[in-house]
Amino acid sequence: QPVAIVCVGMAGSGKTTFMQRINAHLHGQKQPPYVINLDPAVLNVPFESNIDIRDSVNYKEVMKQYNLGPNGGILTSLNLFATKVDQILGLLEKRTAPDPAQPDKKPIEHILVDTPGQIEVFVWSASGTILLESLASSFPTVIAYVIDTPRTSSTSTFMSNMLYACSILYKTKLPMILVFNKTDVKDASFAKEWMTDYDAFQEALQADQENNAFGGVEGGDISGSGYMGSLLNSMSLMLEEFYAHLNVVGVSSMTGQGIDEFFEAVQQKAAEFKRDYQPELERRR
Ligand code: GDP
Ligand code: MG
Repeated sequence: QPVAIVCVGMAGSGKTTFMQRINAHLHGQKQPPYVINLDPAVLNVPFESNIDIRDSVNYKEVMKQYNLGPNGGILTSLNLFATKVDQILGLLEKRTAPDPAQPDKKPIEHILVDTPGQIEVFVWSASGTILLESLASSFPTVIAYVIDTPRTSSTSTFMSNMLYACSILYKTKLPMILVFNKTDVKDASFAKEWMTDYDAFQEALQADQENNAFGGVEGGDISGSGYMGSLLNSMSLMLEEFYAHLNVVGVSSMTGQGIDEFFEAVQQKAAEFKRDYQPELERRR
């Protein structure tokens, strides 16, 4: 049974580039994946997709016809596409099943899903939920949460990003891999350290606050006193629990660094899906 990898992340975090990289990697291993593009607004998809939302809905036309802005256009396109979820699943099941007529042909082991640039449109919409839940009811499904590493190197952007990832974990209830992308620009070791060493994060917090205009509000020392200090402290305690459920990898979609490690994490998360998530999903159904 193939594993579905759904790439989510903030606009510009590198989801599409990451998809292109893991797609090329799998082709290189003679394991071509089944590829789905769910971003109706993307101009160029740099990989060949088997299912493309743009083949069934015209985003520009949807905007015009319903008098919508960009986000409304994406959301409505996704809604229209979600009405076809049964057809899509039928197609997926047919294409990923072993072909008795071609017994030598390798079965598909991965389904890759790219999502709209605007993360909230997919994660917090009814149609995104329908698409994701349908996928997870048929295949072990793993969320790859893609992060722009250079842009998350301050403690406050890092914390915001982790809280967002955490909310997606609670919303989707699917196993998650944090993919720190763009390590060719900035190494992800700082993030891994902050996620495993509470004191290191506290020290970074303090240093950031001392250099930060906002730090002065409560008298500078953020970690011990004041509203921000206690808020950040309790959030980092909550996040510790969250981190324990995650796999973290640093990758560069540009150079391909870290991609092997990503696929190791996928194997691990797929096993967790079958062991922990699938029984829970079935209970809820
Ligand atoms: P998406 O909106 O999440 O799909 O992001 P894109 O894949 O379109 O990438 C956004 C920008 O980040 C593009 O300019 C990419 O070239 C760039 N980018 C993506 N991955 C990497 C990477 O690993 N390293 C560097 N340096 N740039 C990257
Ligand atoms: Mg994209």
